[in-house]
Amino acid sequence: MKYIRKYLKMNFADILLTLTLVLCGFASLIIFYKTSRTGTSLVIRQNGVITATYPLNEDAMINISDAGNVITIKNGAATMTEADCPDLICVRHKSIKRTGETIVCLPHQLSLSVEGGVSVDDDKIDAIVR
Ligand SMILES: [Zn+2]
Repeated sequence: MKYIRKYLKMNFADILLTLTLVLCGFASLIIFYKTSRTGTSLVIRQNGVITATYPLNEDAMINISDAGNVITIKNGAATMTEADCPDLICVRHKSIKRTGETIVCLPHQLSLSVEGGVSVDDDKIDAIVR
């Protein structure tokens, strides 16, 4: 503790504040992952229009022929496995499975988004009014 205080020129309150902020950060991460939902379907949009919807619980390989993209659904997660766009950002994106996650291929104006799903708290009753 003396080492940190001497070399970082922090007093005890600064160290306490830093530790509190780090703990709050970890706590919010844990809360986010505990309450986020695993999606049920993959919605494919081209030029902003929904062109197809696939269930995430069935493995599939989807070929978007006019865009040159190949989407793979495996183990409840979707990935853009092939594309002929110049930057390949969509192919390097990690697989998506939680509600709201999206992969976008901007050159082809193609987006994949995960929708649906039930959060851990959704099946509980919020309130009863009489
Ligand atoms: Zn792309």
